[in-house]
Amino acid sequence: MGRRYDRVLLKLSGEILAGKEHFGLDYEAIRDICAEVAEVAKQGVQIAMVVGGGNIIRGAQTTSVERAQADYMGMLGTVINALALQDALERLGCPTRVQSAIEMRQIAETVIRRRAIRHLEKGRIVIFAAGTGSPYFSTDTTAALRASEIGADCVIKATKVDGIYDRDPTKYPGAVMLPRISYMDALSMQLKVMDAAAFSLCQDNKIPIVVFNMLQKGNLRRLLIDGEDIGSTVC
Ligand code: UDP
Repeated sequence: MGRRYDRVLLKLSGEILAGKEHFGLDYEAIRDICAEVAEVAKQGVQIAMVVGGGNIIRGAQTTSVERAQADYMGMLGTVINALALQDALERLGCPTRVQSAIEMRQIAETVIRRRAIRHLEKGRIVIFAAGTGSPYFSTDTTAALRASEIGADCVIKATKVDGIYDRDPTKYPGAVMLPRISYMDALSMQLKVMDAAAFSLCQDNKIPIVVFNMLQKGNLRRLLIDGEDIGSTVC
């Protein structure tokens, strides 16, 4: 066992930033998550992050606003989350850069692939905000896209559960965790780990997806530094 990945794309859902609340930002939860990230970054793993926005607005589920408009609102939510993560990481001594897919010159760089790679090489954490910059996409797809662009060794999806189960573990007590599963099976079993666009990008570019429990302290280090087989891997 040992370090398996040099450059990773960590996908954080908005929900995870809401902590015990279901909405908004729980700064204590954010600090705890960032402390785990800082620990592995300081060991030399290059980390890029994509953050969701479900704690602020989910465009696709907002019926009172036109879909594309709601999606843009959703993307702006991810920028708020990205700035919160940047602040928390820098308080922990990690240099970071936010790159936004929607231009916001006063607060973030624009997404520039080669610049993002340069930041990573210099040991900075890159936080990608505003999704793909286009409506009708998700931040899971963004994670697969950015991972492909920067040549990440894997996409790590931080969740509140231990991995991928054959059925929803919150509804079925007998659900079985699957340590390894193919992209095809994950898609056909409709396990809802990621959307189809995200799966197909990862499959085309041969990027494994690791799903693990981010709320268990030390898990990110176990996965990235100690090389332990935790969570589920789609490959
Ligand atoms: N979104 C979008 N295009 C993108 C990424 C995100 O329009 O490329 C919008 C979409 O409305 C989505 C919202 O941003 O509902 C928040 O992202 P997501 O639901 O993926 O966040 P998560 O579930 O990870 O918190």
